[in-house]
Amino acid sequence: MIFLANPNNPTGSYIRSRDLIPFLHQIPSSVLAVVDEAYLEYALAEPDYPRLIPRMDDLPNLILLRTFSKAYGLAGLRVGYGIAQPEIIAALERIRPPFNVNMVGQVAAVAALADQQFIRSSVQANRRGKIYLANELENRGVTVIPSAANFLLIKVAPYSGKTIFQRLLTRGVIVRPLDEYGLPEYIRVSIGKPDENCFFISQFRKMWRNG
Ligand SMILES: *Cc1c(COP(=O)(O)O)cnc(C)c1O
Repeated sequence: MIFLANPNNPTGSYIRSRDLIPFLHQIPSSVLAVVDEAYLEYALAEPDYPRLIPRMDDLPNLILLRTFSKAYGLAGLRVGYGIAQPEIIAALERIRPPFNVNMVGQVAAVAALADQQFIRSSVQANRRGKIYLANELENRGVTVIPSAANFLLIKVAPYSGKTIFQRLLTRGVIVRPLDEYGLPEYIRVSIGKPDENCFFISQFRKMWRNG
């Protein structure tokens, strides 16, 4: 099985269609290709972000994973889905636990799908917040990795991500240190609402200045 997250967590980077499509076509038929599209809604406006559903008939070993936990804001309901050829779904059905997605979650997911205006405004707010945060940090000489998702990967060297995590915690901000991902000098910051983004910047600035 080949597992790709597109966009990727925690980097926020993404694989372009011109790279991904030829790669998927090269995979042997005995190998399942799983593309985790948890952050798809945020990435659709990025240059050459892959649209895989129209190509699925030519890629029989592909499964796409989607979730209602991110742009749809329903993480607490634990709803997601996969898209694949009927043969792959049938194999998954044999091992799927009964009631793995509860009825309340399913009803909420269907209602959420119908509210695409919410997705548009949520994605737009994310894009604005991301630009604001990246500008504020880069203006202070902090390296920010370009992100197609709803978070930013920020380099905090010469400090460790753990140190910055601890210092921001005492100031009322929770970010994620990334040693577990092999990125000890980085933190991941979720894009928030405008006032939350401002609060993060004000606390980060004070902490950065005071060392
Ligand atoms: C959040 C996330 C998911 C989806 O998580 P669920 O809440 O379990 O649906 C899947 N893949 C990645 C990379 C994620 O960040």
